[in-house]
Amino acid sequence: MTENAVQDLLTSLTGKALRGETPTREEAAALLGTADEDVLDVVAAASRVRRRFFGLRVKLNHLVNMKSGLCPEDCTYCSQRLGSTSEILKYSWITPQDAARDAGRAVQAGAKRVCLVASGRGPGDRDITRVADTVAAIKESTPDVEVCVCLGLLKPGQAERLREAGADAYNHNLNTSEEHYREICSTHTFDDRVATLKDAQGAGLSPCSGAIFGMGESDDDVIDVAFALRELDPDSVPVNFLIPFEGTPLGGRWELTPHRCLRILALFRFVFPDVEVRLAGGREIHLRGLQPLALHLANSIFLGDYLTSEGQPGAEDLEMIADAGFVVEGVEEATLPAARHDLVAVRRRGAGTDLPANT
Ligand code: SF4
Repeated sequence: MTENAVQDLLTSLTGKALRGETPTREEAAALLGTADEDVLDVVAAASRVRRRFFGLRVKLNHLVNMKSGLCPEDCTYCSQRLGSTSEILKYSWITPQDAARDAGRAVQAGAKRVCLVASGRGPGDRDITRVADTVAAIKESTPDVEVCVCLGLLKPGQAERLREAGADAYNHNLNTSEEHYREICSTHTFDDRVATLKDAQGAGLSPCSGAIFGMGESDDDVIDVAFALRELDPDSVPVNFLIPFEGTPLGGRWELTPHRCLRILALFRFVFPDVEVRLAGGREIHLRGLQPLALHLANSIFLGDYLTSEGQPGAEDLEMIADAGFVVEGVEEATLPAARHDLVAVRRRGAGTDLPANT
């Protein structure tokens, strides 16, 4: 692409994002196809959108891994899958008190959202009771923190129970395009995932859904999953880059470059201009020295450790945020821009639940 064509593309994408319009498929493909030498222009253009809707704020999130490993599903990217020989900690449910203590420490370090995650196909009703107790324990000790729950596929009525227990959000990633999904998992389908996300949304939980890149997907798959997510209208979108655990079918797969990661993040900012785009797993190993540039695109990051791997220690993340000229979002500040915040509040009232003021 010529220099002028790149500038025209970026002007069009920025204008559309600022007006809340979706890019065309051709524009999305052209963005992913830009050369490495154009990446600073791409970041600069998408960062205008990020600053318009989120200023220089960075929201911090923390994962509490409530149950690890021993999963009967076969997601190829996951170290907790059936038959995985990855060297990870495997344990059954931690207690609500331990989870609340972990969450409290993260809030002290600046986390505004705590994500309660458990491995498995989906929760049983006793698991929902356990997680409901955990949500209550966290809300009692740190009432302002947002609690997101991530337990896999939900059965009828379970989303409502989580919402009644005080959970604010539900995470269930689409992970990749519908076409590519059958290559990465045989024990459940893309449609199963969509259904759970819709259930959560219908129950008044703020929907959180994103993807993982670096699993052999084509540019078309990247665009398909971005557009499929946009149709689901999530409030937050985690962008993960594959951590290729030894002992999983995707172990040893290194196909991303820092520049490709930045282009993918820029695409997500253009497709989700006023939605929380969260830099999630794999950011350190794939973006490496270019990680601070990603803060110009994402407005939210996971702090420190991820599910079964250790991220960058929290202090280094905070230093990176400050050095790059960003500020940690406070608990009293709303994450989402006013128009979207109002929309989310209306949706939740429709489901009979109020929105926490800081969402
Ligand atoms: S991603 Fe979830 S469902 Fe899939 S193998 Fe891992 S823990 Fe199990």
